[in-house]
Amino acid sequence: MKKFTKTLTAIIVSLIICAALFGCTQTETSKRSYTKSNAVDISSYAPAPTAESCPEIHDTRVKNIIFCIGDGMGLGQISLVRMKAVGPDGTLYMERMPVSGFVRTHSADALVTDSAAAGTALASGVKTNNGMIGIMPDGTRYQTILEVAKARGMATGVVVTSRITDATPAAFASHVTSRKMQDKIAEQLIANKVNILFGGGKEYFLPRSDGRSKRNDQKNLIEQAKEAGYIYVRNAEELKTANNPYILGLFQLGALTTVEPEPSLAELTTKAVDILDRAGKSYGFFLMIEGSQIDRACHDNDAGGVIRQTLLFDQAVKTAIDFAQKDKQTLVVVTADHETGGLIIKGGNLKGNDLNLNWSTGGHVAMPVPIYAFGPKAEVFTGTYDNSEVPKKFARLLGIKLFPKAVDE
Ligand SMILES: [Zn+2]
Repeated sequence: MKKFTKTLTAIIVSLIICAALFGCTQTETSKRSYTKSNAVDISSYAPAPTAESCPEIHDTRVKNIIFCIGDGMGLGQISLVRMKAVGPDGTLYMERMPVSGFVRTHSADALVTDSAAAGTALASGVKTNNGMIGIMPDGTRYQTILEVAKARGMATGVVVTSRITDATPAAFASHVTSRKMQDKIAEQLIANKVNILFGGGKEYFLPRSDGRSKRNDQKNLIEQAKEAGYIYVRNAEELKTANNPYILGLFQLGALTTVEPEPSLAELTTKAVDILDRAGKSYGFFLMIEGSQIDRACHDNDAGGVIRQTLLFDQAVKTAIDFAQKDKQTLVVVTADHETGGLIIKGGNLKGNDLNLNWSTGGHVAMPVPIYAFGPKAEVFTGTYDNSEVPKKFARLLGIKLFPKAVDE
């Protein structure tokens, strides 16, 4: 009994400490206990030394593009994370980018988009139905900006914390009628020879005979990738020493854990940029990175998870900005595919404590999302426009005349 009382006291004390540290209260509409991930550790996040904007870059051409997508990351999420990590007057790295705008997100068949239709709009410049990847309701396939860049000799990469076969990465280098066809998506990612493929989802690359596989056939895509010239890496150690223009990095069977010893999104981005900068010496590179699990935390109405995942994403954005600042020919654009959770900050104090949050749904919402840009020609991202405009802007900046472009079959 004494032991029980002791344990109970310990639990209550830790809850009070968590609440004091995190300083948020939950409203009645929240679906899940807000205290669940309240003790989120943000100590690994190194905030920017200044809240000032990054200096603008003019008079250079756009050679490289780093496109960063925070899945489910709307203004509510960004505001929450800013308040908790750097205070109401601080700035996240993405917020230091000198240009910003707003992006509408509806899909061809719904006001509230999913990641497949949104990813297709952001990658191919066309609106399709929810659930479809790189393909229109009438069956027409449209090339993605990554594929068009590749056709021009640019090096390409996709770096995510979800399965690499998940909707957003899939939308940049595959074409399927349903996002569920992850076995087909895996095949197309390899066939497309995307230089850098970093994420989770090994289960869709292993043959059926392997007990861990989710494929229905005996194809071993890891072996196929090696035959096609890829180096295959499985962990941070192997990643460190990998030096090849084609690298397939699959760090988990499913989504990444986003904790050590797995490489962080920022570390994956650093490696991707390093390889792509060399592979794209002559013609440049196009890299898409995604903070995939912000969405997952939002679906769970888990504010602690949102903070952690968004900070991991922001660190990766910092890596991209640091490179672009030195390189001077790299455009960095940050946006979201949609907002998830309908997160509203109803109140709190100016220290960013005692935040009163209200989640309005466990799904996606129809609100526009912010877009930030830094680098040469960043100013073309000012304004309010449709998500399908984003890759069209990329195409124009890269001197690609025909885009969106249907695939000739
Ligand atoms: Zn979602």
